[in-house]
Amino acid sequence: MAAGALSAHDPVSPPWSLEQQLAALRAALPAGTRLLAVSKGHPASSLRQLVALGQRSFGESRLQEAIAKQAELADLAELDWHYIGRLQANKARAVLRQFGTIHSVDSLALAERLARIAAEEGQAPAVFLQVKLRPDPSKTGLSADELRQLWPRLQGLEPLRIVGLMTMAPQGFSAAESQALFGECAALARELGLPELSMGMSGDWPEAAAAGSTWVRVGSGLLGPKSCQA
Ligand SMILES: *Cc1c(COP(=O)(O)O)cnc(C)c1O
Repeated sequence: MAAGALSAHDPVSPPWSLEQQLAALRAALPAGTRLLAVSKGHPASSLRQLVALGQRSFGESRLQEAIAKQAELADLAELDWHYIGRLQANKARAVLRQFGTIHSVDSLALAERLARIAAEEGQAPAVFLQVKLRPDPSKTGLSADELRQLWPRLQGLEPLRIVGLMTMAPQGFSAAESQALFGECAALARELGLPELSMGMSGDWPEAAAAGSTWVRVGSGLLGPKSCQA
Protein backbone atom coordinates (compact mmCIF):
# COMPACT_ATOMS: atom_id res chain seq x y z
CA MET A 1 0.00 0.00 0.00
CA ALA A 2 0.97 3.56 -0.53
CA ALA A 3 1.33 4.13 3.23
CA GLY A 4 4.39 1.90 3.17
CA ALA A 5 6.18 4.47 1.06
CA LEU A 6 5.85 7.15 3.71
CA SER A 7 8.77 7.96 5.94
CA ALA A 8 8.23 8.59 9.64
CA HIS A 9 10.11 11.86 9.54
CA ASP A 10 8.63 13.40 6.49
CA PRO A 11 5.20 12.04 5.69
CA VAL A 12 4.88 14.23 2.61
CA SER A 13 8.20 13.35 1.01
CA PRO A 14 8.25 11.85 -2.48
CA PRO A 15 7.18 9.56 -4.00
CA TRP A 16 3.94 10.10 -2.08
CA SER A 17 2.79 13.57 -1.16
CA LEU A 18 -0.13 14.07 1.15
CA GLU A 19 -2.00 15.45 -1.83
CA GLN A 20 -1.40 12.28 -3.84
CA GLN A 21 -2.27 10.09 -0.89
CA LEU A 22 -5.55 11.91 -0.38
CA ALA A 23 -6.39 11.88 -4.07
CA ALA A 24 -5.69 8.14 -4.33
CA LEU A 25 -7.87 7.38 -1.34
CA ARG A 26 -10.71 9.55 -2.58
CA ALA A 27 -10.57 7.97 -6.03
CA ALA A 28 -10.71 4.48 -4.51
CA LEU A 29 -13.68 5.11 -2.23
CA PRO A 30 -17.08 4.23 -3.65
CA ALA A 31 -19.75 6.91 -3.85
CA GLY A 32 -21.48 7.02 -0.48
CA THR A 33 -18.33 6.25 1.50
CA ARG A 34 -16.86 9.33 3.10
CA LEU A 35 -13.36 9.78 4.43
CA LEU A 36 -12.79 10.62 8.08
CA ALA A 37 -9.17 11.73 8.34
CA VAL A 38 -7.94 10.38 11.66
CA SER A 39 -5.51 13.03 12.80
CA LYS A 40 -4.55 11.80 16.26
CA GLY A 41 -0.81 12.01 16.72
CA HIS A 42 -0.45 14.52 13.89
CA PRO A 43 0.15 18.25 14.29
CA ALA A 44 -2.34 20.95 13.40
CA SER A 45 -0.12 21.87 10.43
CA SER A 46 -0.92 18.50 8.81
CA LEU A 47 -4.63 19.08 9.28
CA ARG A 48 -4.25 22.51 7.77
CA GLN A 49 -2.67 20.95 4.67
CA LEU A 50 -5.58 18.53 4.37
CA VAL A 51 -8.11 21.32 4.76
CA ALA A 52 -6.39 23.18 1.92
CA LEU A 53 -6.93 20.03 -0.17
CA GLY A 54 -10.62 20.00 0.63
CA GLN A 55 -10.80 17.63 3.60
CA ARG A 56 -13.20 18.85 6.30
CA SER A 57 -13.95 15.85 8.53
CA PHE A 58 -11.40 14.86 11.16
CA GLY A 59 -11.37 12.13 13.77
CA GLU A 60 -9.57 12.48 17.09
CA SER A 61 -9.40 10.11 20.02
CA ARG A 62 -7.72 12.13 22.74
CA LEU A 63 -9.59 15.08 24.14
CA GLN A 64 -6.71 17.30 25.26
CA GLU A 65 -4.84 16.82 22.01
CA ALA A 66 -7.97 17.63 20.04
CA ILE A 67 -8.74 20.76 22.04
CA ALA A 68 -5.24 22.10 21.38
CA LYS A 69 -5.52 21.49 17.63
CA GLN A 70 -9.02 22.92 17.41
CA ALA A 71 -7.71 26.10 19.03
CA GLU A 72 -4.83 26.27 16.54
CA LEU A 73 -7.25 25.82 13.65
CA ALA A 74 -9.93 28.17 14.95
CA ASP A 75 -9.47 30.42 11.91
CA LEU A 76 -10.72 27.66 9.59
CA ALA A 77 -14.48 27.64 9.15
CA GLU A 78 -16.73 24.62 9.15
CA LEU A 79 -14.44 21.84 10.23
CA ASP A 80 -16.35 18.69 11.12
CA TRP A 81 -14.94 17.07 14.27
CA HIS A 82 -15.62 13.44 15.16
CA TYR A 83 -14.67 11.86 18.47
CA ILE A 84 -13.58 8.26 17.90
CA GLY A 85 -11.79 7.32 21.13
CA ARG A 86 -12.94 5.54 24.23
CA LEU A 87 -15.13 7.97 26.11
CA GLN A 88 -14.81 8.24 29.86
CA ALA A 89 -17.93 9.40 31.67
CA ASN A 90 -16.17 12.39 33.23
CA LYS A 91 -15.12 13.67 29.78
CA ALA A 92 -18.62 13.56 28.32
CA ARG A 93 -19.37 17.25 28.70
CA ALA A 94 -16.07 18.37 27.23
CA VAL A 95 -16.43 15.98 24.31
CA LEU A 96 -19.93 17.26 23.60
CA ARG A 97 -18.62 20.82 23.53
CA GLN A 98 -15.82 20.03 21.06
CA PHE A 99 -17.31 17.42 18.73
CA GLY A 100 -20.45 17.24 16.59
CA THR A 101 -20.24 13.49 16.08
CA ILE A 102 -19.31 10.71 18.52
CA HIS A 103 -18.41 7.27 17.12
CA SER A 104 -17.72 5.42 20.36
CA VAL A 105 -20.90 5.17 22.43
CA ASP A 106 -20.62 1.68 23.84
CA SER A 107 -23.15 1.44 26.68
CA LEU A 108 -26.64 2.53 27.65
CA ALA A 109 -25.24 4.33 30.70
CA LEU A 110 -22.93 6.42 28.52
CA ALA A 111 -25.71 7.17 26.03
CA GLU A 112 -28.01 8.29 28.86
CA ARG A 113 -25.32 10.50 30.31
CA LEU A 114 -24.58 12.05 26.92
CA ALA A 115 -28.28 12.70 26.34
CA ARG A 116 -28.69 14.44 29.68
CA ILE A 117 -25.60 16.60 29.22
CA ALA A 118 -26.35 17.34 25.56
CA ALA A 119 -29.76 18.65 26.62
CA GLU A 120 -28.11 20.90 29.22
CA GLU A 121 -25.62 22.13 26.64
CA GLY A 122 -28.20 22.66 23.91
CA GLN A 123 -26.44 20.17 21.61
CA ALA A 124 -27.88 17.47 19.35
CA PRO A 125 -24.83 15.34 18.56
CA ALA A 126 -24.77 12.65 15.90
CA VAL A 127 -23.97 9.35 17.57
CA PHE A 128 -22.66 6.00 16.41
CA LEU A 129 -23.22 3.04 18.71
CA GLN A 130 -20.06 0.97 18.96
CA VAL A 131 -20.66 -2.73 18.55
CA LYS A 132 -18.37 -5.68 19.11
CA LEU A 133 -19.43 -8.66 17.03
CA ARG A 134 -16.33 -10.80 17.67
CA PRO A 135 -14.45 -11.60 20.90
CA ASP A 136 -11.76 -8.95 21.35
CA PRO A 137 -10.32 -8.13 24.79
CA SER A 138 -8.80 -4.86 23.53
CA LYS A 139 -12.10 -3.29 22.50
CA THR A 140 -15.44 -2.35 23.97
CA GLY A 141 -18.85 -2.41 22.33
CA LEU A 142 -22.36 -3.76 22.57
CA SER A 143 -23.06 -7.25 21.32
CA ALA A 144 -25.79 -7.63 18.70
CA ASP A 145 -28.15 -9.10 21.30
CA GLU A 146 -27.44 -6.35 23.85
CA LEU A 147 -28.06 -3.75 21.19
CA ARG A 148 -31.38 -5.30 20.11
CA GLN A 149 -32.48 -5.47 23.72
CA LEU A 150 -31.48 -1.87 24.52
CA TRP A 151 -32.62 -0.41 21.22
CA PRO A 152 -36.07 0.79 22.36
CA ARG A 153 -34.47 2.74 25.21
CA LEU A 154 -31.56 4.03 23.12
CA GLN A 155 -33.91 5.28 20.43
CA GLY A 156 -35.74 7.48 22.88
CA LEU A 157 -32.67 9.30 24.14
CA GLU A 158 -33.26 12.79 22.85
CA PRO A 159 -31.52 14.99 21.90
CA LEU A 160 -29.01 12.39 20.71
CA ARG A 161 -29.31 11.63 17.00
CA ILE A 162 -28.32 7.99 16.72
CA VAL A 163 -27.27 7.71 13.09
CA GLY A 164 -25.42 4.43 12.82
CA LEU A 165 -23.13 1.70 14.09
CA MET A 166 -19.37 1.73 14.48
CA THR A 167 -17.18 -1.33 14.68
CA MET A 168 -13.58 -2.46 14.41
CA ALA A 169 -12.12 -5.76 13.32
CA PRO A 170 -9.86 -7.55 15.80
CA GLN A 171 -6.14 -7.28 15.05
CA GLY A 172 -4.83 -9.94 12.73
CA PHE A 173 -8.14 -10.57 10.96
CA SER A 174 -7.80 -11.60 7.32
CA ALA A 175 -9.51 -9.57 4.62
CA ALA A 176 -12.16 -12.28 4.33
CA GLU A 177 -12.81 -12.31 8.08
CA SER A 178 -13.05 -8.53 8.18
CA GLN A 179 -15.40 -8.42 5.23
CA ALA A 180 -17.69 -10.98 6.88
CA LEU A 181 -17.68 -8.99 10.12
CA PHE A 182 -18.42 -5.71 8.33
CA GLY A 183 -21.23 -7.39 6.42
CA GLU A 184 -22.82 -8.51 9.70
CA CYS A 185 -22.54 -5.02 11.12
CA ALA A 186 -24.19 -3.62 8.01
CA ALA A 187 -27.03 -6.14 8.34
CA LEU A 188 -27.54 -5.17 11.97
CA ALA A 189 -27.71 -1.48 11.06
CA ARG A 190 -30.28 -2.25 8.35
CA GLU A 191 -32.33 -4.26 10.84
CA LEU A 192 -32.46 -1.22 13.15
CA GLY A 193 -33.07 1.23 10.34
CA LEU A 194 -29.76 3.04 10.86
CA PRO A 195 -28.34 4.65 7.72
CA GLU A 196 -24.69 5.17 8.69
CA LEU A 197 -21.80 2.78 9.22
CA SER A 198 -18.42 3.78 10.65
CA MET A 199 -16.23 0.86 9.61
CA GLY A 200 -12.76 0.49 8.17
CA MET A 201 -9.31 1.82 9.05
CA SER A 202 -6.03 1.98 7.12
CA GLY A 203 -5.65 -1.79 7.07
CA ASP A 204 -9.16 -2.78 6.16
CA TRP A 205 -11.06 0.12 4.61
CA PRO A 206 -11.46 -1.64 1.22
CA GLU A 207 -13.37 -4.49 2.89
CA ALA A 208 -15.43 -2.03 4.92
CA ALA A 209 -16.26 0.07 1.87
CA ALA A 210 -17.28 -3.08 -0.02
CA ALA A 211 -19.61 -3.94 2.86
CA GLY A 212 -21.30 -0.54 2.67
CA SER A 213 -19.39 1.61 5.15
CA THR A 214 -20.43 5.26 4.96
CA TRP A 215 -17.41 6.50 6.94
CA VAL A 216 -13.95 4.99 6.76
CA ARG A 217 -11.62 6.23 9.50
CA VAL A 218 -8.15 6.42 8.00
CA GLY A 219 -5.12 7.67 9.93
CA SER A 220 -1.70 6.24 9.10
CA GLY A 221 -2.75 5.29 5.57
CA LEU A 222 -3.28 8.98 4.86
CA LEU A 223 -0.97 10.91 7.14
CA GLY A 224 1.76 8.33 7.69
CA PRO A 225 2.95 7.11 11.07
CA LYS A 226 2.13 9.30 14.06
CA SER A 227 4.46 12.25 14.11
CA CYS A 228 3.82 13.75 17.51
CA GLN A 229 2.71 12.74 20.98
CA ALA A 230 -0.58 13.72 22.55
C1 LIG B 1 -6.51 5.42 15.34
C2 LIG B 1 -7.85 5.00 14.96
C3 LIG B 1 -8.20 4.86 13.59
C4 LIG B 1 -7.22 5.04 12.46
O1 LIG B 1 -6.29 4.01 12.48
P1 LIG B 1 -5.24 3.83 11.27
O2 LIG B 1 -4.89 2.38 11.34
O3 LIG B 1 -4.10 4.72 11.58
O4 LIG B 1 -5.93 4.20 10.03
C5 LIG B 1 -9.51 4.52 13.30
N1 LIG B 1 -10.43 4.33 14.26
C6 LIG B 1 -10.12 4.45 15.57
C7 LIG B 1 -11.19 4.22 16.58
C8 LIG B 1 -8.83 4.78 15.96
O5 LIG B 1 -8.53 4.89 17.26
